Amino acid sequence: MNFILSKKIKYYTKESLRWIGLIVFGLLIIALVIWIKYKPVYSVTFLGKEIGMVTNKNEIENTLQEYTETTYGDIAFITLKELPEYELKFVESGEKTNEEEVLLAVKNTAIVTYRRYAITLAGTQKAIVSTKEEAQNVVDEIKKEFNQDLELDLKIIELYDSNDIVPETVEVAVAKVNEDEIVQTKLKEQGATVNGITLSAPITGTITSRFGGRRSGYHTGLDIAASTGTPIAVAASGTVTYAGNRGTYGKLVIVSHGNGVETYYAHCNEIYVTTGQNVESGEIISAVGSTGNSTGPHLHLEVRVNGEIKNPQNYLYK
Ligand SMILES: [Zn+2]
Repeated sequence: MNFILSKKIKYYTKESLRWIGLIVFGLLIIALVIWIKYKPVYSVTFLGKEIGMVTNKNEIENTLQEYTETTYGDIAFITLKELPEYELKFVESGEKTNEEEVLLAVKNTAIVTYRRYAITLAGTQKAIVSTKEEAQNVVDEIKKEFNQDLELDLKIIELYDSNDIVPETVEVAVAKVNEDEIVQTKLKEQGATVNGITLSAPITGTITSRFGGRRSGYHTGLDIAASTGTPIAVAASGTVTYAGNRGTYGKLVIVSHGNGVETYYAHCNEIYVTTGQNVESGEIISAVGSTGNSTGPHLHLEVRVNGEIKNPQNYLYK
């Protein structure tokens, strides 16, 4: 009896194992068909809209992270409006994913914040440049105009802006700050001494044209009108480095005073000195005239420091 029972159990066990085997095999076939016909993808939702499908969710996440972390130049940071959401689903194997478009759609809404440097004068923003070095150059350039440190309240501040403001060049920034009334007043307050050389007015007369921008271009000196023949007294002791005709300057005398300071006397009627001659402060070197590019008798006076043209009214005829 026991023997028959055990034989029956053995039979049914064998039967069920066979069925289980068949079912598993069938399921595998179905899985294989699904695997060939369909594929898993991630549908991407961004700002409430489905923007496409991607195969690899991690790759998209990493690319976006890298995009926001890789800042260069004057870009301070990049922030995404929000992170995309991913949903796993199966689509037919033939369907194409569009990673590029998904990335572009997200990147296009990113907010880029730029880092700029502003130069402030007495707390007011005067000019914007793109690097800290440029900002420092602007400050240095302006301070160079001064004989001593006149406690000009110049500061460099970092600015963050999501608008891509076009920064100014160092030159433009210097001009912008320089034309400010505070700077102009301070320049006029400073003495007639430049780099240790004290200048005195070569003639008395009427100022007819100032230094700087004017309709016909940049005026490199100061025009003082006086009648023809008025004696011109050299502004400081030094050595004559040029005495003769020079194009639009007409009859020109250049005197070097040392410490990089030079003065120019143009449009002269007559010249009384020669190149290489030493002159004492106040010595008569030439006479007022209207030679070269001139519309009437006047002295065109220039002051240069280390080759740079300065406004003579920083020191004289204030
Ligand atoms: Zn002139």
